[in-house]
Amino acid sequence: MKGVCVFTCPGAVIVTTPQDVALADARRGAQMFRDLHTPVLGVVQNMSHHVCSQCGHTSHPFGRDGAARLASEMNLELLGDVPLHLDVREGADRGSPVLATQPHLPPLLCLPLHSQQGPGETVTPPVTSQ
Ligand SMILES: [Zn+2]
Repeated sequence: MKGVCVFTCPGAVIVTTPQDVALADARRGAQMFRDLHTPVLGVVQNMSHHVCSQCGHTSHPFGRDGAARLASEMNLELLGDVPLHLDVREGADRGSPVLATQPHLPPLLCLPLHSQQGPGETVTPPVTSQ
């Protein structure tokens, strides 16, 4: 018989798209972690918006600010927005996160991250705007 591997989870980050059906799952997930006494570190809004590569127009195909509403409702911090962007997908497929390789791209992170990476070590990502 194999041994049992036990680990502790220091915290959870809830990642959700902005639309209501995804928020319902995210809400249940956050509540599950709370029930398990696992700290919920915050909410990240994935597919928050799309910036047209042709004209720069910004649209919100999955709705707007759903993660912010969820974070407010559950007294959590909104950690950031990840837009629909080709570079995000390509970087993920290559295994090189776009924030590490192209932190200057303006649409890729719309809110500053405030989370603590470890004791006394603060993440300071680039603050960009649309
Ligand atoms: Zn366009």
